[in-house]
Amino acid sequence: MMRKEKKQVEEITAMEADFAQWYTDVVRKADLVDYASVRGSMIIRPYGYAIWEHIQKELDRQIKETGHENVYLPLFIPESLLQKEKDHIEGFAPEVAWVTHGGEEKLAERLCVRPTSEVLFCEHYANIIHSYRDLPKLYNQWGNVVRWEKTTRPFLRSLEFLWQEGHTCHATDEEAGEETRRMLEVYADVCEDYLAVPVLRGRKTDKEKFAGAKFTLTIESLMHDGKALQTGTSHHLGSGFAEAFGIQYTDKQGKLQHVHQTSWGITTRLIGALIMVHGDNRGLVLPPKIAPVQVMVIPIAQHKEGVLDKAYELKEQLNKTVRAGIDASDKSPGWKFSEHEMKGVPIRIEIGPKDIEKHQAVAVRRDTGEKIFLSLDELETRIPLLLEEIQKGLLQKAKAHREEKTNIALSMDEFKAVLESNPGFIKAMWCGDRECEDQIKEETGATSRCMPFEQEVISKTCVCCGQEAEELVYWAKAY
Ligand SMILES: [Zn+2]
Repeated sequence: MMRKEKKQVEEITAMEADFAQWYTDVVRKADLVDYASVRGSMIIRPYGYAIWEHIQKELDRQIKETGHENVYLPLFIPESLLQKEKDHIEGFAPEVAWVTHGGEEKLAERLCVRPTSEVLFCEHYANIIHSYRDLPKLYNQWGNVVRWEKTTRPFLRSLEFLWQEGHTCHATDEEAGEETRRMLEVYADVCEDYLAVPVLRGRKTDKEKFAGAKFTLTIESLMHDGKALQTGTSHHLGSGFAEAFGIQYTDKQGKLQHVHQTSWGITTRLIGALIMVHGDNRGLVLPPKIAPVQVMVIPIAQHKEGVLDKAYELKEQLNKTVRAGIDASDKSPGWKFSEHEMKGVPIRIEIGPKDIEKHQAVAVRRDTGEKIFLSLDELETRIPLLLEEIQKGLLQKAKAHREEKTNIALSMDEFKAVLESNPGFIKAMWCGDRECEDQIKEETGATSRCMPFEQEVISKTCVCCGQEAEELVYWAKAY
């Protein structure tokens, strides 16, 4: 039995040896996904889907709390509709999947499988918005989209992924701006408070902004290997789409005006962030707030009289306040320990004949490995507190990691040296020219992640060209 237990742990590649392989191993061994027959698409398994449902539930609550309504629009977009907004089609054309036939018959017009739904919403809004009384329109859609990516990885970049996309129309540019910022804050809250993933809030450069947007706001997080991940974006679309699609309303003075729009989205990518921010060499580490099972009760010597009964009793008792499970399968305790560690269950509770005699149980934290002996009487009150502690601890640990991996560069030599020695975020000044941005990417592989809302002046000149600097930018190699 010992050999089998050892083997299960050994099957994961150490993250220090090969981070990409470690990621793939965790995704498979923690039962999050299985590969499907179409390259780059994934089957999200029950455990992975349950994590998504917990994220979805909280985000949906906040989306509704901020006044939005859920709707559902079609999967297909006629080619002519997609082409109405020039920048938008140019941005998405390379990764669009097309439907050319219906049954045996060739279609008169190609249909695109939605890569995002701006144009569908615009067509609909043009039909339903007429007066200032119809505004604002605050819609959100939960669905799937398809982007024909060349290189794919489960959750991070897949041909098809799940997401929500908010699409709103407002009377003024200012209102749309407020909405763009409000929803970025909702995303930041879900990431930090629920996923325990700290984020930088900022604006994308013109090069990195959404195709067709006036500007894009983003939250960026840092993975364990020092690469950045864009975790959510919120776009101010201005009135460009409204002009292309004729979305107009009559204002209070009876004058015809174009609406001002926003769109914003987060995806199943967040699960990738969870894995790469909190995971370790024993597998996934889940923050309690989104863990499908927060506490797993594992009976020790369960064949002995009274053990299983007591274990079930504990589970029932815990279920009043937390999401508790029990593993009463016939696998060995050691096997169960590594399996639920692999799945990132925040706390496991061991209970055996000796514990029952002493009227106690052993709680083991997944994040620190700490063993805590708890009297059975205090279990119900102590476990929720312990879960809170774990939740906070994970955020702090991730913040400390990000601090450790955030550096300043005043010259290109410094930029390259620091990216080599301690990869992570690099704070450097930028003149605002696209050419410098391109050159930095070409020379270092790092891209501009965001111009943070909290600006600092670390130097007066651009890190690349030496001209006067306009903004502080966070740079990083990114997923
Ligand atoms: Zn420059």
